[in-house]
Amino acid sequence: MMSPVPGPDKKTKLLVYTIEECPACGQKTKRAFAVGDYVTKEAAKCSKCGNSTRVSLVYAEGQKPSG
Ligand SMILES: [Zn+2]
Repeated sequence: MMSPVPGPDKKTKLLVYTIEECPACGQKTKRAFAVGDYVTKEAAKCSKCGNSTRVSLVYAEGQKPSG
């Protein structure tokens, strides 16, 4: 499998996350990044108020070792 995310993955595996934010109520949802995600992209319906959310942040974080 080719990784879509370049980075120092010799030791630490980077996982990419997408934050969806509701402009109406401020609800934030963190989910795994999906290909095609970008900041300001319209995302899923808000689970609280039903308004359309938008991607507010895409970021990578190192996977912590299990334990
Ligand atoms: Zn909302």
